[in-house]
Amino acid sequence: MTKTNHIAVAYGDGIGPEIMEAVLRVMQAAEVNLTIDVISIGAEQYRRNFAAGIPDSAWDTIKNTRIILKAPITTPQGKGYKSLNVTLRKTLGLYANVRPVISYCPFVKCNFNDLNLVIIRENEEDLYAGIEYRLTNELHESLKLITKSGSAKINKFAFDYALKNGRKKVSCFIKDNIMKIADGAFHNVFKDVAKAYPEITNEQMIIDIAAAKVAANPEQFDVIVTQNLYGDIISDIAAEVSGSVGLCGSANIGDEYAMFEAIHGSAPDIAGKNIANPTGLLNGALMMLNHLEEFEKAALIQNALNYTIEQGIHTADLYDEALSSKKVGTKEFADAVIANLGNRPEKLNITKAPAPQNLAVREITLSGSLANNVKRTLVGCDLFIDASDKTALQQAEELAELTAELNLNLQIASYKGLKIWPNQDFTGDIGDYIRCRFIAKNTEKTATHRDIAALLNICATQNINFIKSENLYLYDGELGFSQIQGE
Ligand code: NAD
Repeated sequence: MTKTNHIAVAYGDGIGPEIMEAVLRVMQAAEVNLTIDVISIGAEQYRRNFAAGIPDSAWDTIKNTRIILKAPITTPQGKGYKSLNVTLRKTLGLYANVRPVISYCPFVKCNFNDLNLVIIRENEEDLYAGIEYRLTNELHESLKLITKSGSAKINKFAFDYALKNGRKKVSCFIKDNIMKIADGAFHNVFKDVAKAYPEITNEQMIIDIAAAKVAANPEQFDVIVTQNLYGDIISDIAAEVSGSVGLCGSANIGDEYAMFEAIHGSAPDIAGKNIANPTGLLNGALMMLNHLEEFEKAALIQNALNYTIEQGIHTADLYDEALSSKKVGTKEFADAVIANLGNRPEKLNITKAPAPQNLAVREITLSGSLANNVKRTLVGCDLFIDASDKTALQQAEELAELTAELNLNLQIASYKGLKIWPNQDFTGDIGDYIRCRFIAKNTEKTATHRDIAALLNICATQNINFIKSENLYLYDGELGFSQIQGE
């Protein structure tokens, strides 16, 4: 029985309609078995006052097809609009962003012959939860949220991807020398997941040096797994060093839904001129075909695409007198790929449909304080105080006196992570907030919510202007909070 692949297609904005038409024509010529439902999302829907650019009818179609092939969308600037991409990723649970970056050297200008890496970026967590507060006149806060389950899911995805795609190494990029709790958890989960994949090499790198290496020596990487913000930055660096933003495709994968696209935007500067490169979206579509297990069709088109690039048939973004044989428009490039269906590249890698795989499910066991059933103990709280109308030291002294009878003892006050009370080490100016760390002083060294409520009650009645509090926990005796320098 022939398999029917039902997909939703969004033509997008700017160059979107031209490159989508080119990509659909190539797939049609390759006789890919697709049933297409066109959805209207983006600029037109923003104009119709759908805040995230997507109407109910499009949601209904997506829920039915579960697969989306999407051309780029123009995101309107200004308040009141929500990013369509972020809305789709979060609503559909598309937790993994997969972005392969390769070099088409020597047919396209690129400094790296053997560039062939894949970035797997966590797509739902981190600073992209968009949870932000302005706490005082001076102080602005963005919350970086990293969960144990989200980290396990993306790291497992990265190792499974490596296994399925014959890749040899997974590199984890983190900054756990500074963010020991959030990035430390991501790194520890990575190490635990890696243990279940002994045939794949694993390594970790601090994000700053890792980013420099992606720019200067990207050939050393195979699969990279990282958090949302680091992944966002790293993928743009990698795309840039590969030659053109017009080349890369990307997949957003969840447990139930998946969305495929080019990495570039709607390029309004060249829209409607038949000069855009459709390769990025075509590479996104090829990832979709592999996801749908249409491996042979994906290989057929990939080989025709690579052969066309080898022939020097290039769109304007890639055209170089020394390397190209012919400058073509979007339509003519698609025509050339169609004419080359069945041809195989001579120098660029030949893509073969993979042999059927039956990968055993790997059991992941999280260790240490990340294991299940660890005991959580409340031991205190950090109280953030607005210090704009008194000096910070005066606030700390006052609080210590006012709370002397409570189970919670003011142990240390800090500003920007440095101790300011008792015994001031900090020599700079203190701004309009301080953080006061209260620790339980009973014999069990445990606190209760009532202790924290009593502390807040004293602040409320004594005009201490608190702006937020954070609970301090131990997990099987391990600190669930960062220590203050000088603590
Ligand atoms: P862009 O990627 O659209 O364009 C950057 C530069 O690259 C431009 O000079 C453009 O002409 C060129 N370019 C992009 N794609 C090309 C292609 N296929 N062929 C040849 N040249 C190409 O980035 P931008 O200008 O910052 O963004 C334009 C709009 O796209 C914005 O509204 C932005 O929010 C949106 N955007 C959407 C997505 C998406 O839908 N996934 C992604 C990024 C940006």
